[in-house]
Amino acid sequence: AKELGRDNFQFYHPEMNARAMERLVLEARLRGAIDRNEFIVYYQPQVNLDTRQIVGLEALVRWQSPELGLVSPAEFIPLAEETGMIVPIGEWVLRTACQQMRQWQLAGITPVCVAVNLSARQFHLKDVDSVIMETLRETGLCPSLLDIEITESTAIQKPDETRLTLERMKSVGINISMDDFGTGYSSLSYLKRYPLDTLKIDGSFVRDINASDDDPGLVDAIIAMTRSLNIQVLAEGVETEEQGRFLARLGCRVAQGYLFGRPLPAEEIEPLLRRGYV
Ligand code: C2E
Ligand code: CA
Ligand code: CA
Ligand code: CA
Repeated sequence: AKELGRDNFQFYHPEMNARAMERLVLEARLRGAIDRNEFIVYYQPQVNLDTRQIVGLEALVRWQSPELGLVSPAEFIPLAEETGMIVPIGEWVLRTACQQMRQWQLAGITPVCVAVNLSARQFHLKDVDSVIMETLRETGLCPSLLDIEITESTAIQKPDETRLTLERMKSVGINISMDDFGTGYSSLSYLKRYPLDTLKIDGSFVRDINASDDDPGLVDAIIAMTRSLNIQVLAEGVETEEQGRFLARLGCRVAQGYLFGRPLPAEEIEPLLRRGYV
């Protein structure tokens, strides 16, 4: 069969072909979605573990597709990243989130920080910090109310450029968070080198905490490390009261997760934001 060559492989692997076709269809739909602006920003509260006060919101994109319904970012962000479509999508999310925060602020709601995810592709654009500054200027949002989330894998690409970009953002007052901490290639040296404000402990470590065992596992070590580095820590994916209590006992002050609230569209998060706690 090998002699038939590459052009015939689809004959032998029809399922592969089907997957490639699906991808093409999704890619075409995603391009259309950008033109028709089918995206929505959801917001998930970040809360103080002791007081349940809302101290921030994470902006999480959704795709409202007429054909597919509400599509989770897990299903389209990787493709968007590969094709570069993440750049216009990400810039739209950033602008929308900043606009929304400013609007709430003008409506008299006590402002909290908004955290926006930047993909590797978006972060490593050479003018990313000017795009962000321009967006802040246009929307009138104070830089100290913006929190940029990047992952470890984004941060380890081009470390010198990354540090300079982060320092430029930092110098104007933007907050920097390291997302999904512990899932990637972690190195103490860059945690020390980069101007990080917050480290977000990935939900997979939080999930390891359960009532039946007292083993603090890696969470304890991560929290202790942030203390010695003088970086804030936020626990992600907190789903149970036990996990919340356990984290608080270890010295973690801020958390995010279904226990405190799922991501919601702006109009549904607004009453919670007005109240100030969950
Ligand atoms: P992430 O940045 O780690 O976001 C946290 C994800 O965990 C969100 O999934 C959120 O809904 C989910 N989550 C929150 N609390 C809990 C919990 O208690 N339990 C569990 N099991 N999950 C929880 P979502 O919204 O589906 O987003 C998935 C990923 O897609 C994000 O992970 C992020 O990497 C990416 N993403 C979302 N919005 C954007 C965006 O605007 N730009 C970029 N570049 N990536 C985005
Ligand atoms: Ca995130
Ligand atoms: Ca995360
Ligand atoms: Ca994640």
